[in-house]
Amino acid sequence: MFPNLQSEDPEVYASVMAEVNRQQHDLELIASENHASLAVMEAMGSPLTNKYAEGLPGARYYGGCENVDVVENLARARARKLFMVEGCDIGVNVQPHSGASANAAVFLALLKPGDTFLGLDLSHGGHLTHGSPVNSSGRLYRPVHYHVRPDGWLDMDEVRAVALAERPKLIVCGASAYPRIIDFAAFKAIADEVGALLMADIAHIAGLVAVGLHPSPFPHCDVVTTTTHKTLRGPRGGLILAKRDQMKAMNSAVFPGSQGGPLMHVIAAKAVAFNEALQPSFRSYQEQVLANAKAMAARLVARGHSLVSGGTDNHLMLIDLSEHPLSGKDGELLLGKAGITVNKNTVPGERRSPMVTSGVRVGTPAMTTRGMGVAESEQIADWIADLLASPEDADVHARVRAGVSALCAAFPLYGGAHGAGPSA
Ligand SMILES: *Cc1c(COP(=O)(O)O)cnc(C)c1O
Repeated sequence: MFPNLQSEDPEVYASVMAEVNRQQHDLELIASENHASLAVMEAMGSPLTNKYAEGLPGARYYGGCENVDVVENLARARARKLFMVEGCDIGVNVQPHSGASANAAVFLALLKPGDTFLGLDLSHGGHLTHGSPVNSSGRLYRPVHYHVRPDGWLDMDEVRAVALAERPKLIVCGASAYPRIIDFAAFKAIADEVGALLMADIAHIAGLVAVGLHPSPFPHCDVVTTTTHKTLRGPRGGLILAKRDQMKAMNSAVFPGSQGGPLMHVIAAKAVAFNEALQPSFRSYQEQVLANAKAMAARLVARGHSLVSGGTDNHLMLIDLSEHPLSGKDGELLLGKAGITVNKNTVPGERRSPMVTSGVRVGTPAMTTRGMGVAESEQIADWIADLLASPEDADVHARVRAGVSALCAAFPLYGGAHGAGPSA
C-alpha cells in the first residue's frame, strides 16, 4: 500500500500505516466519524488536487477547467438530488472546505458584524461555530443562546422566549451532541414570528436526512449547511444548500468571501460519496445505524446507565455520568485503553469543567460501516458497562480488549488490507 510514499518519505508513511492499523484494530464510536469508501479516498488522492478552479463551473478565473467543471457539476447535481424535497427548489455550493467554513460563509452572507443570531449553547450540544466566544461566529457577531431542558430535550419554549426578547436576524438549529429529532417546522414558526432567517446545520444527521430517516430541514429553512464526512460518509468537507433566492449570496460568501481555490480532488470525492448515498444500500446502512444505536442505548439503560434524554432517535447517545464516580474524561481514557474510541462530552446541568465533563458521547455510524449489527451493538454496550463498573479490574480490561480485537478482526475494515472496504 502507498509504495511511492513508502520509498520517498518513510517517516510520514510509518505514521499513516500506524493510523490505518489503529482504525483496523480499534472500535470507532466517535459519533462524528465514519470510514469513507475506497472510491471516495481514491478520488481524494487524485491529481485533481493540482488544479486551480476559482469561481464556479462555466465561470472560472483559470483556464483548463473543462474536466473539473464536469466533476463539480456532478457533485452539485447529486447533492441537489439527495436533499431536494417536493416543491422546494434549492441550490448547492460544494466548495466549503469544512463544516466550519460553510458556517462562516453563511454568517458572512446573512449577517453584518454585530448582528444578533440565536443558536444552541455549546455545552448543551451546540457547535463552536454557533457563537462560541473563541470562534469567529462569537467574535464578529452577537450570539444569544437557547438550551436543552434538564431532561435533555430541546426547550422550544425557551427558543421562542429568547427569540422574542432578542429579535435575532438569524436562528440556527442543529447540533453536535443531541440524540433526538430536531423539529425544523417548530423553529420555522418561531423564525417567522420574529422575522428571522432560519439556518439548519445538519452536520451530524445529514446521512439520516438524505434517506428520510430524519425530517428534512427543507422547506422550512432558508439555508442548510453540513459536513460531508460524518453520517454522510464522504470526504472531509462542507456543503451549503439554500433556497434559490439565497444562492447568489452563498456563492459569493464562499468565493471570494472566505475561500480561494476550491479543493477539486475533495469535490470529486464528494461527487462519489453523494452517488453512493443515492443508492438503496445507503438507506439500509442508515437504518442499521439507527437500529444499532437503539440497541446499544437499550442495553446501556438495562445495565443501569442513564442516558441524556433517556435514549436516542438518531445515530448517537450521551451516557450521563453525573452521578457516577468516573468523569467523562475518565470514561474516554478507560474505554480508549480497551480499544473503544469515544469522546467526553458535557451533559445538561454540567458540574464538572469542559475539559473533564460528566458525559461520554457514543455513535454508531463507523461501526455500522464495518458491517456490525444489533448483536455486536449489544455486546459493545456490555463491554462499556463492564469497564465503567470495574475501571481498576485488570481482568475485565484484558477480557474487553481481547473481545474488541476479535470483533474488529471479524469485521475487517477495507477488507483487512486496504482492500474491500465499505461497499457503496
Ligand atoms: C462537526 C460539526 C461542524 C464542523 O465541521 P468541521 O468539518 O469539523 O469544520 C459544524 N457544525 C456541527 C453541528 C458539527 O457537528
